Amino acid sequence: MPKQARLNGIKSFRCYTIEEAAEVSGVSPRTVRNWASDGLRVMDDTRPALIRGDDLRDHIKTKRESRSTKTKIDTFYCFCCRKERAAAEGMADCEIKDGRAKLTALCETCATVVSKPVAEALITQIALTLDLKITRH
Ligand SMILES: [Zn+2]
Repeated sequence: MPKQARLNGIKSFRCYTIEEAAEVSGVSPRTVRNWASDGLRVMDDTRPALIRGDDLRDHIKTKRESRSTKTKIDTFYCFCCRKERAAAEGMADCEIKDGRAKLTALCETCATVVSKPVAEALITQIALTLDLKITRH
């Protein structure tokens, strides 16, 4: 897992250089440059380029939220891709035990095994979009 960026200590009304922004949020300057190409507003008509504290805070917060987004009913979170992914070939194994169901599939992008628990009641709905091989114990 990447290092969690810190919010504490970022002052909303201060401006930071890339290096200062990296320092105060506990990440590398390279990470801050990645954020800049990923939507973080940088005032680059100044030399050096400056980032407003409140923009920096907002960007880190948005990143945190997007990391914890839930997957759709028929998709999986792939820890290898670090993204929501569909099941390869639209196929998944579904294991049902004691009223709990677990879906296992392969990431469509990198073929890593992905899985997630689902409510048994949702299986009929999931079976509309995924080809499920159901095993009951
Ligand atoms: Zn993957």
